[in-house]
Amino acid sequence: MTITAKPNKWNPEPEIISRAAEIIRAGGLVAFPTETVYGLGADALNPEAVRKIYEAKGRPSDNPLILHVSNVAQVRELVYVNDAAEVLMKTFWPAPLTLVLKAKEIIPSVTRGGLDTAAVRMPNNPIALALIEASRTPIAAPSANLSGRPSPTDFESVSHDMNGKIEMIIDGGDVEVGIESTVIDITDPKKFLMLRPGGMSREVIEETLKARLEVPNSESKKRSPGTRYRHYAPDVPVVIWRRGSRPPTVEADSAAYMGTHEPGFEVREKILFDDTANYARGLFAGFRKFERDECSCIVAQWPEDSSGIGEGLRDRLTRSATSGVMYN
Ligand code: AMP
Ligand code: MG
Repeated sequence: MTITAKPNKWNPEPEIISRAAEIIRAGGLVAFPTETVYGLGADALNPEAVRKIYEAKGRPSDNPLILHVSNVAQVRELVYVNDAAEVLMKTFWPAPLTLVLKAKEIIPSVTRGGLDTAAVRMPNNPIALALIEASRTPIAAPSANLSGRPSPTDFESVSHDMNGKIEMIIDGGDVEVGIESTVIDITDPKKFLMLRPGGMSREVIEETLKARLEVPNSESKKRSPGTRYRHYAPDVPVVIWRRGSRPPTVEADSAAYMGTHEPGFEVREKILFDDTANYARGLFAGFRKFERDECSCIVAQWPEDSSGIGEGLRDRLTRSATSGVMYN
């Protein structure tokens, strides 16, 4: 029922891309790779198709979707583009940077989760760009996991969650970034908001905008409903541990550990990453591996780096953790 295909990443075969684009145009669902995590895509302008995304994921319908585009002209048809958006698109796109702007009428309410704004992004992945281009429509896509589960960063994880539920999965191998895009609200030129830290670092965005990205207050938080939900969690409890602090109380013969440094306490399995970027890249796949291995608990090292990808990684860990959140 679900077809799969593995195109050449840098030069995707036109037959594969047009097959996937036909499904999108016919109102179906296609999971595809991006540089951040795999997306579950549908025609963003077709409300029936978008509804199927929420259904396949079991996602609350007030959690809006990001519209993925393959060129800047497409953005102008969807949202009101301001100066800040022009600068960011020109400087960074394609990139793990999502812009929230005032929506035009053309975007169905279901795609926007009923809001008057919309989120747009140009992904930095040749397969994704070819698919959007061939579909001749923006593609609405959240991560291709069941709602609440860790985002899929490889083909196997997508297949595990979505096989039998959608028309097609495109295998693009392992992703590069591993956590979702940074989402910023730039509708108000006097007050830019960081809605979700992610793959693109706050520092470079602030430098380019020559302005700070502010923390949303409770009112503007309501405007990014996704931030309300518990997310990214494996079925195994996640405990955050800061290096140098007291070792967590875990069962040495069944616990797992992941981080950039040796834990210094006994666990059954561990994954050590070379640096923070690799930690972010391997986080969700690590969660899923430890879950398959039936570990009793996952101890995750609190990233020492709070800048760059470290901010996004800290956010994902905090939201997947059950206890023991420690800040530096
Ligand atoms: P996901 O699709 O799971 O990667 O989540 C998309 C994120 O973008 C969520 O956190 C949403 O709340 C946020 N988002 C999407 N559209 C909007 C919007 N119009 N306004 C504010 N946040 C949005
Ligand atoms: Mg998601």
